[in-house]
Amino acid sequence: MEVYATERLDREQLEQSLGSDVKLYPKSVTNLGECSIALVRQGRQRYLVACGSGPIYDEFDGEMHGAIKRCGTTHANRLILNRYLPYTVPSANTAQKPSIGLGDRLGEATGGHIAALGESAVYPIFAQQSIRELNFTDRTFSDVIDSAAWAVFAHGWTAAWGADGDHLKREAEVANALSDGATMITLDSSEQIDNTIQGLDEQGLLARYEALDEGIRSAYEERYRDKAHTIGDVTITLDGTSLARDVLIYDKALTFMQQVWEHQIKECGRPIDFEISIDETDTPTDVKSHLFIALELKRRQVLVSTLAPRFIGEFQKGIDYRGDLGLFEEDLVLHSAIARHFGYRLSVHSGSDKFSIFPILGRLLAGRFHIKTAGTNWLEAMRLMAQKDPGLYRRMHEHALTRFADATAFYHVTTDLGAIKPLADVTDEELEAYLGDDNARQLLHITYGYLLLDEDGAGKKLFRDEFFALLAKEEESYQALLSSHIGRHLDLLGFRTAG
Ligand SMILES: [Zn+2]
Repeated sequence: MEVYATERLDREQLEQSLGSDVKLYPKSVTNLGECSIALVRQGRQRYLVACGSGPIYDEFDGEMHGAIKRCGTTHANRLILNRYLPYTVPSANTAQKPSIGLGDRLGEATGGHIAALGESAVYPIFAQQSIRELNFTDRTFSDVIDSAAWAVFAHGWTAAWGADGDHLKREAEVANALSDGATMITLDSSEQIDNTIQGLDEQGLLARYEALDEGIRSAYEERYRDKAHTIGDVTITLDGTSLARDVLIYDKALTFMQQVWEHQIKECGRPIDFEISIDETDTPTDVKSHLFIALELKRRQVLVSTLAPRFIGEFQKGIDYRGDLGLFEEDLVLHSAIARHFGYRLSVHSGSDKFSIFPILGRLLAGRFHIKTAGTNWLEAMRLMAQKDPGLYRRMHEHALTRFADATAFYHVTTDLGAIKPLADVTDEELEAYLGDDNARQLLHITYGYLLLDEDGAGKKLFRDEFFALLAKEEESYQALLSSHIGRHLDLLGFRTAG
């Protein structure tokens, strides 16, 4: 019966029923009793197709085309698929495997990410989007999980994968992401972190500290002041000044983390990877501050899977690490010792394209980390545009230049627009070289929201239709670009055996 069912969903049968433009994802063909299902693409749309009979066949919502029932890749149909194929449901990384966030802003990159992963043992987070990214792409978190689930089905990824509600700042955002099915929550407490403290001199700092409630101060002092902690082979002492500073910076944030843990994560009824991010600050996270936070989270019984400090050096979007690799390594040794001591993994944000530090992460952390990437797959899509439709690429590049100043309100970059070769001086064959230029990469990277959503005077999106049509048409080429680019990340991180 298995063989018979497979034959019913072959290409010839699909073409007869749906037309010659139908493209089958061969790894999606699945036989469930008397029913066979698969994923196909026609033009820009993907559909689930079903033939045969039985409950699953009846449940999917779709319309008949000959012997084939063609069903939209809707949210409702995704939930049905989830019930029959449990591997299409995201789950938490409870075994604490090394993991990588592979955000797919466009809903088109997961196939390439799956190709890159191959046989590697890393735990992928295919759905990962921050509120900022959702706004910039006009998507919902539920839609992001839908896309990842359909891609997992299309490309036959039957191992576990996760869904990260990234950089959430409000308890209500956490509640929404959890009800949408997030398996990982990255809590960003930057709204509770006091960024005015770092710049104070000792006198100013102590004056602010003295103004704090006496009960709060004495409780912290009793617990930590001048106490030494042995972490791995180093001893760290929280002296009076550093303690005062950390209480001022992090007290409110810790209360917030505890509240979200108790009200949302613990109450959720299923395992969740809880990440604390303190990386969106003006200065690198001091090792003493990290220790202070770790001690407090433990005391408050908040269980974290991963914690993202702000590391030394610059982690700008879409380009390599900028900073002293020796200092980065020294700093990483201490942060990783604290993480190990308290039983969580370090998380590295803005991890796209940080090729010079990947070997250090791989060697020092031996898999005990999470790394987030997202925007780099957008840049690979722009590479595809440069290769396949130079005219469209030129128009998008031109528009990005007019929107760059607006985009810098959302992203910290040090782009020098003047250093980017003018479009007029570049032949079509040379356009791809822009993707090898840090300034051009950042220009394209931070303006993605405008390029996807900006409209002409008549309310029509400037590039969106052409852009997605080309991505659909050149799907295999896009996957090959991602497989090679993300593959390079995985190799250098030690997540794949090179080859
Ligand atoms: Zn971050």
